[in-house]
Amino acid sequence: MAPTFRPKTHSTIHEFDLIRSLHQQHSRRTPSVIRGIGDDAAVITSRPGQWTVLTTDLLAEGVHFDLRTATMADIGFRAATANLSDIAAMGASPQHLLVSLAIPRTGASRDVHQLYRGMMAACRPHHVALVGGDTSASDSGWFLSLTLIGTVPPRQALFRNGARIGDYLYVTGTIGDSLAGLKLLNETTSRAGSYARTAALSTRHRKFLIGRHLRPTARIAEGKWLCAHRFASSAIDLSDGLSGDLRHICEDSHVGIELDLRALPLSLACRAYAAAWKLDPVNLALIGGEDYELLFTVPPRQRRRLEHSAIEQGFLITCIGTIRHYRFGMQALTLHGKRRRLVNCSYEHFT
Ligand code: ADP
Ligand code: MG
Repeated sequence: MAPTFRPKTHSTIHEFDLIRSLHQQHSRRTPSVIRGIGDDAAVITSRPGQWTVLTTDLLAEGVHFDLRTATMADIGFRAATANLSDIAAMGASPQHLLVSLAIPRTGASRDVHQLYRGMMAACRPHHVALVGGDTSASDSGWFLSLTLIGTVPPRQALFRNGARIGDYLYVTGTIGDSLAGLKLLNETTSRAGSYARTAALSTRHRKFLIGRHLRPTARIAEGKWLCAHRFASSAIDLSDGLSGDLRHICEDSHVGIELDLRALPLSLACRAYAAAWKLDPVNLALIGGEDYELLFTVPPRQRRRLEHSAIEQGFLITCIGTIRHYRFGMQALTLHGKRRRLVNCSYEHFT
């Protein structure tokens, strides 16, 4: 879209040259792309008998990312993962990507290419084709919006509202790592960092946690597996934190939950971080967002098949609770075997 009174392009970047070079370096054709970057709109084919899944995310500098602690490539990678993870939570396969970008006056073409390099690194394993976008100048930092299109066999998509009483609650991977990584990164920009504590954490654990924050993995294979075997009755991805995302499943499915805090899958690195900083690792797992793991419910009759198949596939999944009647509410079994109400303490942008 052309602005009404301001030059459209960045002062040092020529928009058309930039788009041409983005096209040359980062777009790749897949058989379903009829027309990619370069026309007024992209054209893709869709196979008959498939559902289309669409998701979009907007990231703003200073709100969603901080250029003091992340490179442009990291930001691109995380932005792509956030979208891939939404597609994974539907049990779908990602296929086509659109990217809209507002570039600040200080931004250089090299920054844009770094950003795309990160995005495409996250997308490449899933054969996602970049098919278009839009470019503008910005007077207040970077804005990045991704739209990802995927497909899923009809009636197999995983929704948030399918959990039933008696279903088991599972999560993939480990949780809390991303928040620990973010806290480590933030300490490097503030003076709050304690050298003694930093020294208490091995370089390997530190690298692991920061990696989990800056380069998270979208669980595409796990989502497709759940969907293909019809193991799951509902699913969501962990972007806002376990307590908040679990609430979405409970509210949308009109059910309650008994979460077993003793069962939460915590990495060694997350435990080591929590010990050094005198934090409760369970709390990190409950409130930490952006782990991009999948949270899903499984009917009791599927449980054995699911667990067998997960071992065969090499997927790490952990049962962390049971779906209850909605009047039960959201409760957690604590490490001491006591019950407590689960309060929503996840991250929200407008609070
Ligand atoms: P229009 O004026 O119709 O919006 P543009 O000049 O903005 O056309 O875009 C030309 C082509 O380049 C289109 O195919 C568009 O999808 C693509 N494009 C524009 N900006 C980007 C971007 N940041 N990333 C990827 N593709 C882009
Ligand atoms: Mg445009």
